[in-house]
Amino acid sequence: MDFKNSFLRALPAVDRILQEEPLKKIAERIPYKLLLEASQESIDFFREKIIASSSREELSNLSMDPGVIAAEAAERAKSRFFSGLRPVINATGTILHTNLGRAPLADQAVRAVTSTAECYSNLELSLENGRRDSRLAHVEGLICTLTGAEASLVVNNNAAAVFLVLNTLAEGREVIVSRGQLVEIGGGFRVPDVMKASGATLVEVGTTNKCYRHDYERAISDRTALLMKVHTSNYRIVGFTEEVSRQELVSLGRQVGLPVIEDLGSGAFYDLTAYGLPSEPTVQECLAEGIAAVTFSGDKILGGPQAGIIVGEKDLIRRFRDNQLSRALRVDKLTLAALEATLRLYHDPEKARYEIPVLRMLTADTRDLKARARRLWRHLKNRIETGDWEIKEGVSYVGGGAMPLAELPTYLISYRPEDISLEELMRRLRRGNPPLIARVQQERLFLDIRTILPGQEKEVVTTMMNAINTEE
Ligand SMILES: *Cc1c(COP(=O)(O)O)cnc(C)c1O
Repeated sequence: MDFKNSFLRALPAVDRILQEEPLKKIAERIPYKLLLEASQESIDFFREKIIASSSREELSNLSMDPGVIAAEAAERAKSRFFSGLRPVINATGTILHTNLGRAPLADQAVRAVTSTAECYSNLELSLENGRRDSRLAHVEGLICTLTGAEASLVVNNNAAAVFLVLNTLAEGREVIVSRGQLVEIGGGFRVPDVMKASGATLVEVGTTNKCYRHDYERAISDRTALLMKVHTSNYRIVGFTEEVSRQELVSLGRQVGLPVIEDLGSGAFYDLTAYGLPSEPTVQECLAEGIAAVTFSGDKILGGPQAGIIVGEKDLIRRFRDNQLSRALRVDKLTLAALEATLRLYHDPEKARYEIPVLRMLTADTRDLKARARRLWRHLKNRIETGDWEIKEGVSYVGGGAMPLAELPTYLISYRPEDISLEELMRRLRRGNPPLIARVQQERLFLDIRTILPGQEKEVVTTMMNAINTEE
């Protein structure tokens, strides 16, 4: 025990550490209180190390120099003060990466956000007659024109949209859903839980792989409020399976006088099969086939801001709007600005395809990807001579709980570092400026060109160079 005491006594005081270069250097940029806390934490960190050590030999390697303890404190203070939300480069090849913020916005949407943010706007004012107007008036018309819906409503996200629909139409009553559609989406959205929170009772029918019309029929009673269809966004049930089609469910609903609603998840406006993507029901199709209310996300395949969009029959939408909860779930003006600009682009399908980053990445031409990947690979190889560089064919994924089976052919730049472990390289890339998020597979690092936005190549090179050339 004695050997530890001499080390513990040698621990410097906070005042002493604050005089050291690493902390003095950042004192102007970081609040004093944070420096103080970080210094105390750093001393505690060294104290713990001493206490946990089991021999004098182990401790002899521990530097007790105040400068070293101050450097640790400076790292802590910096990472706390500067650890906010910041741009990162997505080289994972997953287009709708929920952890990386799903959809990057189109330039037009970004400009709309900026101009709405920096001054006043006619958010809730009609410029026609000077009277108060709904903040949603700016997007409702666009949504209805694009989808053929009678009416629409926008809320905070799709989870909120589903919640509002269920609460309005089925509180205290029953909603019938096929067992094969009891989806869980990353981030805590689960159909049974949302149902419960909304005050509706879930009635599951069928089995995981098979559900027939008569399963629904048998479950219908005077307590039933709705028949609900849920898009199995992030999984597929394949093999020996049976689901009731949308048309059949709608016809059953009509027969017994119950509306059919659908949580469409991603919600595409266009069929993208021409670009090699799997066939997905579009919002227009769901409405045309008689769904009374469809809900979907703004920031999945649509490529806009986080939002939940509800489209459907006029009197249902009016009831959702009149529900007191819609005020609590309402969207912010910056979201509306971005959504409106994104929707406007959809009026010209070709324009939407190259102006909306998500659509551009989804439908990217393999030859273009190859050319871009080769260019970046050459730059990297020329600048970083250690390690082994390759270029390979591979696949990108849609992500965000959409099109789970789609594998989009792409080109990957692959690297095996020489002097550091892959884990260490990934860590340094995450701490880069800007941070670079890559994929690891078969003992190699992979950069997928598809999700590296045009213009980010230079930053990829500098972050890679800094990560490989730092000494630690
Ligand atoms: C993504 C998804 C949700 C949740 O949407 P958010 O906009 O993330 O709230 C709900 N249901 C389905 C089927 C989904 O795919």
